[in-house]
Amino acid sequence: MLIIGSHVGFNSKDQLLGSVKEALSYEANTFMFYTGAPQNTLRKPIDQEKTNEALKLMQENNIDIKNVICHAPYIINLANKKDPSKWDFSINFLKQELARCDELGISSMVLHPGSAVGLPKEEALENIKDGLNLILKEGYRCRVLLETMAGKGSECGSSLAELKYLISQINYPIGICLDTCHLNDSGVDINHFDEYLNEFEQEIGLEKIGCVHVNDSKNFLASHKDRHANIGYGTIGFDALLHVIYHEKLATVSKILETPYVGESLEDKNRLYPPYRFEIKMIREQTFDDHLLEHIHTYYKR
Ligand code: FE
Ligand code: FE
Ligand code: ZN
Repeated sequence: MLIIGSHVGFNSKDQLLGSVKEALSYEANTFMFYTGAPQNTLRKPIDQEKTNEALKLMQENNIDIKNVICHAPYIINLANKKDPSKWDFSINFLKQELARCDELGISSMVLHPGSAVGLPKEEALENIKDGLNLILKEGYRCRVLLETMAGKGSECGSSLAELKYLISQINYPIGICLDTCHLNDSGVDINHFDEYLNEFEQEIGLEKIGCVHVNDSKNFLASHKDRHANIGYGTIGFDALLHVIYHEKLATVSKILETPYVGESLEDKNRLYPPYRFEIKMIREQTFDDHLLEHIHTYYKR
């Protein structure tokens, strides 16, 4: 069975219960959330009652919590130690987020490896490795998945070699989250995805893949940009993405959409609506629908 969902919200009031409800409104059978706003550090304690209600609702709707993914906040950067207080902050914040995932029963957390910002790549990778070894020593049940990055600015983790190096240097179980937009922007042609997957299998091992972010891209191959497009509306295209989504070697892995909300047009930013319900439908039907906007407007403007 296809395991598909999208990024959803997690507000301090309804917490995981709100996330599950949102996922169900998209007819998804999994989802990804942040345990608070991705840009800041304000976190409310986990509400056990809400968590229990969320678990019950998941069970009733065949959402397996094993497939649910958390995403670490963007402000965490383990790659740069120039300001020790900032690095310590990243370490402690990631520890706190992993502890929250353990409390919620979530087994995977996607993490951007980090940005070198002025440091040589080798030093940045050392810092990431040191940071993760320090954090994972605590023994969380939740597994960290390093995300494949577009290579925007000084981002680390945009090549198999860098990810392989990190995995080999970290003394604890750790996995990878593939992101199709990031792969495209880093120079991996999703139209030849099997070549990449074979190389991944040889260099790292498919068992390390814990999540796939399915996004089209607004930019061309190897652009190093990282701007997501709606499924079938970007440079990767519907068929290439469908091939990844239904790949037999990735059948047990959660597919998560992080495509942009849409307004009056695909570029309008005034009043935005989530596209996920309709993208998931297209994916399930395996047929591209070039009326995505109309469907979204009819549904949400009722
Ligand atoms: Fe990400
Ligand atoms: Fe992603
Ligand atoms: Zn991205």
